[in-house]
Amino acid sequence: MMYTSTQNNNESVSSAQAIAQGISRDGGLFVPDTFPKYDGVTFETLLKLDYRERAKKILSDYLTDFTAEEIADCVDKAYTAEKFGSDNPAPIVSVDYKNTELNILELWHGPTCAFKDMALQILPHLLTKSLKKTADGKKAVILVATSGDTGKAALEGFKDVENTEIIVFYPSDGVSPMQKHQMNTTGGNNVGVCAIKGNFDDAQTGVKNIFTTDEVIDSLEKNGLMFSSANSINWGRLLPQIVYYVSAYCDMVNAGKIKLGDKINIVVPTGNFGNILAAYFAYSMGMPVNKLICASNSNNVLTDFINSGVYNKNRDFITTVSPSMDILVSSNLERLLYILSGRNDAETKKYMTALKTQGEYAVSENIKNVVTEMFSGGYCSEDETLDTIASLYENSNYLCDTHTAVAVNVYDKYLSETGDNTPAVIASTASPYKFSRAVLSAVEGQEVTDTDEFAIVDRMNDKTGVAIPAPLEATRTMDDRFSDVIDPADMPQYVLSSLGLK
Ligand SMILES: *Cc1c(COP(=O)(O)O)cnc(C)c1O
Repeated sequence: MMYTSTQNNNESVSSAQAIAQGISRDGGLFVPDTFPKYDGVTFETLLKLDYRERAKKILSDYLTDFTAEEIADCVDKAYTAEKFGSDNPAPIVSVDYKNTELNILELWHGPTCAFKDMALQILPHLLTKSLKKTADGKKAVILVATSGDTGKAALEGFKDVENTEIIVFYPSDGVSPMQKHQMNTTGGNNVGVCAIKGNFDDAQTGVKNIFTTDEVIDSLEKNGLMFSSANSINWGRLLPQIVYYVSAYCDMVNAGKIKLGDKINIVVPTGNFGNILAAYFAYSMGMPVNKLICASNSNNVLTDFINSGVYNKNRDFITTVSPSMDILVSSNLERLLYILSGRNDAETKKYMTALKTQGEYAVSENIKNVVTEMFSGGYCSEDETLDTIASLYENSNYLCDTHTAVAVNVYDKYLSETGDNTPAVIASTASPYKFSRAVLSAVEGQEVTDTDEFAIVDRMNDKTGVAIPAPLEATRTMDDRFSDVIDPADMPQYVLSSLGLK
């Protein structure tokens, strides 16, 4: 299997190359040239396997230039019971809510308590092997733009990994206090963390620009270094996410909630469009799906896109209680457009150029039709997010974080609008303790004014009895190591000087 750039069909690389590079030199994203097709017989086999064995099967169908041993090594190191609390890193919890069964796919049992761990615990292993295959002796510099959760998950995944350096940029006022504290307390000798004066889109644009600035690339090359990405623009981030949707489908069958072949709906709280795209790829492989429900917060650029075919980022950026979804440029949509355009690189490039220059594009009638057939888009306000947390807690005794609440709220509206009672899997993307202030405010029904993060955590624990995740508890007494704040314009310089190159 080869991987092509969404902006240049002539650019075709191996999976190791795609993972090592992160993004194509032309600015496009790498997409597999075909999707493996799983029929009922394949699913029969998968049903009998555990999570790790399912992961090995799926990864080996995409990473055809890796040996079975290499893949097994990556998977077995990543998804341990020690790191994820059990042998199933992605358990489904059934919750009875307003007479509907919600199948909540908890993706946050990893070391940083957000779903990003599902990919970022394995990416470093995939990347170091990819580097050995493609970039003899070169050291990878991982640049990350984060709205909070990716940063910490990438730092945890890459800290002290041989032949890598990692630098994380986050919007100084755009992450939760717990997220900031988690990042700034990371250990390891190859890590850097820096706040930028701007929002997540500024950080992401800054990183993308550095990746394609020849002067910076050349300077790295001369010193035996190369850039790579741990953001969901990297294929090595998306692929592990396909696994948990396929695995969730199998778990639904094994639990007797559906029969093999039955369709499910999947609800995903969405920001950069990576998580929901992985669900679409699982569908492309033959997993039976009825609708993919894309849930946004007040930054509802994707809701508008799905309903109108027009993507327009010219709007106010709103800072919400679900900061990991505060995004106006959803990078991974590019991959969907490329595939839905019939792998038309020129058409994809046209949309992306329009987005850059005018902040807006309208897709073809053709793409629009497929998007509306497969996806449903909805969003929810700040009050609705908090009301949903309170209602789910009071009615169903389930405590969820702000992002998961957005998904539950949008799904609830979808149900009342459509009456579509296809069994639904809802992706739960973070532990409620990562966003304690908002969650506790919702549960207590009034604004929490306390400023001490761990005082809030303790109050939430007292009130709800829900255990504080061990990795968060561990940061309680740690001191911050990082405190840099810079202008987005200074990012290239910051990278070069962090690496000792200028
Ligand atoms: C990253 C993140 C999201 C958004 O996922 P995308 O893949 O960017 O769409 C949602 N919730 C949480 C908690 C996240 O960390």
